[in-house]
Amino acid sequence: MQINGIHHVTAISGPARRNLDFYGRVLGLRLVKKTVNFDDPGTYHLYYGDVAGAPGTILTFFPWEHAAPGRLGVGETQETVFRVPEGAIGYWAHRFIEHGVPHDVPVKRFGESVLAFRDPDGMRLALVGLPGIEREAAWDGGDVPAEHAIRGFHSVSLLLEDAAPTAAILGDVLGFKEIGREDTLIRYRAEGAALGTIVDLRVAGGFLPARQGAGSVHHVAFRAADDAAQEEMVRRLAENHGIRTTEQRDRNYFRSVYFREPGRVLFEIATDAPGFAVDEPAATLGQALKLPAGLETQRARIEALLPELG
Ligand code: ZN
Repeated sequence: MQINGIHHVTAISGPARRNLDFYGRVLGLRLVKKTVNFDDPGTYHLYYGDVAGAPGTILTFFPWEHAAPGRLGVGETQETVFRVPEGAIGYWAHRFIEHGVPHDVPVKRFGESVLAFRDPDGMRLALVGLPGIEREAAWDGGDVPAEHAIRGFHSVSLLLEDAAPTAAILGDVLGFKEIGREDTLIRYRAEGAALGTIVDLRVAGGFLPARQGAGSVHHVAFRAADDAAQEEMVRRLAENHGIRTTEQRDRNYFRSVYFREPGRVLFEIATDAPGFAVDEPAATLGQALKLPAGLETQRARIEALLPELG
């Protein structure tokens, strides 16, 4: 069966140490991979997720020590939303006060409780409280008790000039269907997975275009079960929508193609395999600096360039 949904979200942040403190300690996500930006090996690429870094739980960052702040605008991901048990919203509101995390009062969206907050770079995040997910496995290796812990992605929302062209790609290529409308939001859901199954399109005609920087989402990656499923999606993009992707790139933990969807948001299609345990034991994910084979000979130089993570 085809499994669709969000595979990972990649964003730009300020200093790596502050990023790790926020996502690892305050939010209680597991650092599942510590590697470098393959296109700029003097900077980190940090991956956070559940215990295994399963597709639908992975938030990754390119941290830059001196990144200029981004400015939210059309053609960009507006908000990245995690799932928590319904009863945990109060715990999180309290935790945000305790840790000085900027947040809003909880609101209802499509009947669900949503607690919006910001990371130290101003990245827009939210928690959605869902009934019946308390018993789902959760990473509790950090400060957050398992009963309250984040259980993967709920959704992303995209800020767009016009919804229809992006909706066509979500529907025809990425396996999503429209399931509802509320205010300026149109909600799409993918079948076949539990995590990361929702994309909300927010139409905001006349808004300024996005300027990427710290706090901006760089791209959203969608799942392909394997190379054949990815190839089929690439074919549909080309034949039905006239969109060409990049060549497939080997990202070590998944294999990816990239394209700019018609609303200007950068999309990726990433394979579920091979996953994060391909180059280190599952029990110690994220502890050692992992480099792709081609960069191993430069390890000493790269390690000297990377900032201390604390
Ligand atoms: Zn990616």
